[in-house]
Amino acid sequence: EAKIEVLNGPHYFDYYLLDKLLERVNIEKKLPRALTEGEFELHYQPKIDAATRALTGLEALIRWNDPELGRISPASFIPIAEDTGFIVQLGEWVLWEACRTNKKWQDAGYPKLPISVNVSAVQFRHPHFVHMVKHVLEQTGLDPKYLELELTESLINNPMMIKEKLDSLKEKGISLSLDDFGTGYSSIYYLKTLPLQVLKIDRTFIQETPSSQRDSSLLRSIIELGKSLGMTVLAEGVETEEQFKFLQEIGCDQIQGFYYSRPLDEQAAEQLLRTATCKEDLVLHESTCK
Ligand code: C2E
Ligand code: MG
Ligand code: MG
Ligand code: MG
Repeated sequence: EAKIEVLNGPHYFDYYLLDKLLERVNIEKKLPRALTEGEFELHYQPKIDAATRALTGLEALIRWNDPELGRISPASFIPIAEDTGFIVQLGEWVLWEACRTNKKWQDAGYPKLPISVNVSAVQFRHPHFVHMVKHVLEQTGLDPKYLELELTESLINNPMMIKEKLDSLKEKGISLSLDDFGTGYSSIYYLKTLPLQVLKIDRTFIQETPSSQRDSSLLRSIIELGKSLGMTVLAEGVETEEQFKFLQEIGCDQIQGFYYSRPLDEQAAEQLLRTATCKEDLVLHESTCK
C-alpha cells in the first residue's frame, strides 16, 4: 500500500487523465449547441440477408463533426450525453431524422425497408419515451412497421418495468431488437418473455471466427438459441468473406459489417437503395412468379 502511495503521490501528476477530464467537460458543454447548430448527421449502415445478400434494412448511426475538434465518435460522446441527460433530446432528434429520411425515401419510390434507431437505456427510461415515438411516427407519416428500435442489454436490469413499454411499442407495430448481444447479462428467461424480434450478436464474437474454435462454436450456440426463441439472428461487425461464408453456413439470418458496407452518408445510402437488390424486390418477384 505504501508503494502505491508513493507512485500516486502529489508529486506525480497525471496529465493524461487531466486531458481526458478537460475533453469531457468540453464535449459536455458543446453538445447542446452542436444540436442547435446542426452539427449532427446520420449515416446509414446496411443490413443484408445472409442467404441472398438482399438489403433488409438500414441502421442509423449518429455522426458529429465539431468545427474545432473534428469528427468525434459516438462511442465517446454518447456516454457523456447519457450522463448529463442530454441523450433524451439528442435521441429524439435522431428518431425524427431517421423517420423523416426513411419516409422521404419511400415517397420517392425506393423499396420500403425498415430503419433501425439505437436507443439508450437512459432515453428509454424517460417516462414520455413511448409517447414521443408514437408522436414522431404520426408527424412524419412513417408506417411503424418500417421502424426498428435497437436496445441494449443494460436496459434489461429491470425487465418487468420495461416489459410494459416494450409491449406497447410492439403493439403499435414497431420492431424491437437486442443490440450487442452477449456483452451484457440478459437471461434466457428475459429473452423469452420480452417482445424482441431480432438478436444482434456483438461483433466481439465474430472477430475471431472461424479461426477460433471456441468463438465459432459459441456463435453456433447463440444462433441456435436465438432461433429457438423465434428471433431473427443478425451478426454485427462482419468484415471478411470468410466470416460471411461461415455465418451463412451455420444459419445466421442477417449480417451487417464492413464486409458488405461501412455506414454510408445519406446520399450514398440513397444511391444504394437505387441500385441494390432489396428484400422488398425479392418479395415482389416471388409473388409475380406465383
Ligand atoms: P452499435 O449500435 O452496436 O453500432 C455498430 C458500430 O460498429 C458502429 O459504430 C459501426 O460503425 C461499427 N461497425 C459496423 N460494422 C463494423 C465492422 O465490420 N467492423 C468494425 N470494427 N466496426 C463496425 P459507431 O457508428 O461508431 O457507433 C458506436 C456505438 O455508438 C453504436 O454501437 C451505438 O451503441 C452508439 N450509437 C451510434 N449512434 C447512436 C444513436 O443515434 N443513438 C444512440 N443512443 N447510440 C448511438
Ligand atoms: Mg446498433
Ligand atoms: Mg451493436
Ligand atoms: Mg455497440
